[in-house]
Amino acid sequence: MPNIDEIFNISEQPFTKKDKELLIKSYEFAQKAHDGQKRDSGEPYFIHVFETAKNLTKLGMDANTIAAGFLHDTIEDTAVTEEDVKREFGDEILFLVKGVTKLGTLKYRGHERHVESLRKFFLAMAQDLRVVTIKLADRLHNIQTLSHKAPEKQKRIALETIEIHARLADRLGMGKLKSELEDAAFPFAYPKEYTEIEALVKDKVEEYKQCLSDVHVSLEKILKEERIAYSEISYRIKHKYSIWKKLHRYDMDIDKIHDIVALRVVVKNVDNCYRVLGLIHAEWKPLPGRIKDYIALPKPNGYRSLHTTILTNSGCIAEIQIRTTEMHAEAAYGIAAHFAYKENAEQKGHDDASKFKWLEDLQNFNTTQKEQKKFLDNLKTDFFGDRIFILTPKGDVVDLPEGSTAVDFAYAIHSDIGEKMAGVKVDGRMASIEDVLKNGSVIEIITRKDAHPSAKWLEFAKTNLAKRHIRAYIEQNSLMAKFKSFGQS
Ligand code: MN
Repeated sequence: MPNIDEIFNISEQPFTKKDKELLIKSYEFAQKAHDGQKRDSGEPYFIHVFETAKNLTKLGMDANTIAAGFLHDTIEDTAVTEEDVKREFGDEILFLVKGVTKLGTLKYRGHERHVESLRKFFLAMAQDLRVVTIKLADRLHNIQTLSHKAPEKQKRIALETIEIHARLADRLGMGKLKSELEDAAFPFAYPKEYTEIEALVKDKVEEYKQCLSDVHVSLEKILKEERIAYSEISYRIKHKYSIWKKLHRYDMDIDKIHDIVALRVVVKNVDNCYRVLGLIHAEWKPLPGRIKDYIALPKPNGYRSLHTTILTNSGCIAEIQIRTTEMHAEAAYGIAAHFAYKENAEQKGHDDASKFKWLEDLQNFNTTQKEQKKFLDNLKTDFFGDRIFILTPKGDVVDLPEGSTAVDFAYAIHSDIGEKMAGVKVDGRMASIEDVLKNGSVIEIITRKDAHPSAKWLEFAKTNLAKRHIRAYIEQNSLMAKFKSFGQS
């Protein structure tokens, strides 16, 4: 049986004595509850809940969440009752375990179910991110042991992981978890393609490392001369599923992808990120249109970094990514990084601390009904800010400001869709385009060739993007009208 010390050892933040007591208690409780149960692999079932708890520890989650990870299958799969968990571990942990149990019955059964599952997840996320995180940690172990499942189940579970769980991890900014989920699922979801990519990537990785090694050496020298402290210069290898997805966008031509291996520079602060970028551009020629400032303009999931692609002295093209230590942790752990880096952020008086105030509330979670409601309300408003998540019928997620209408959604997908919008279906039923959209709805925009925007739309468009497009259309058309009448007179 795995030892609880394994959990204590991998945690970056040391656990308090009270935390340790809780973790030992939940470890022993789960071990007893699952006693005699076996997985398809023949391993004791307890290994699975242990690995789930371990994944949560690696993600930097708090002790209560890890404890709930140990217990996550007890109510559903053992003789343990809700009352037992409540009596032994209290309301908060019961709340988490029940949340995971409720999410447990999601299945990818073709298209509709998949959208429905995503929606269920997003609504659960609005309630408590920890429930979703436990579910993702659970899924990661399940997908890593997928070879023990019956072959006909493998593909469905793998697709479900890519379409639902990985997307969700991405949305939470948990880049590392997303990559692990996708790469573990990839060979089962698309076996033929996986084999192809594996062969392609093998050669390329060596080629790129070779190409970047000169840059690596020179860059270290430059940073030393300029006295810029860095905590890390390393190679990051793009994960296989992500290469495969990118290949589709580049006519399957691997020579068009320049970030299979990237050099990653981690420095202390934002100022130094820009200084390093300047020094790199002074030394090597950057490729035009390839400089991306995700610090000034973070990705929707919170990802921050500077990216540039350079022509090296040996004539190859390669990407360099520059970020701070804090951005580095956030890119890997997303929302969870704020647990581990909370103290750090407070010391620096970082403004993120207030943005993620709800995370502190998580740790001080109180059990009274009233407190619980207040806590959930805070979670909703602070995490989502004033954002809502809307799904396309295909399951793509679009986030919009609260108060958005179908007009905003249509333009957010594509300006052509906005321009030709003739109506809208909300959750499969016709609705008015003036209606305010609700979090988690599935929206389908009906387009018609002869449809066009009207000035009235400006009254219920919320986003600047939509307003800009509508105004541009109206101006253009009134000009056209004037022009026409001019020609006639
Ligand atoms: Mn499980």
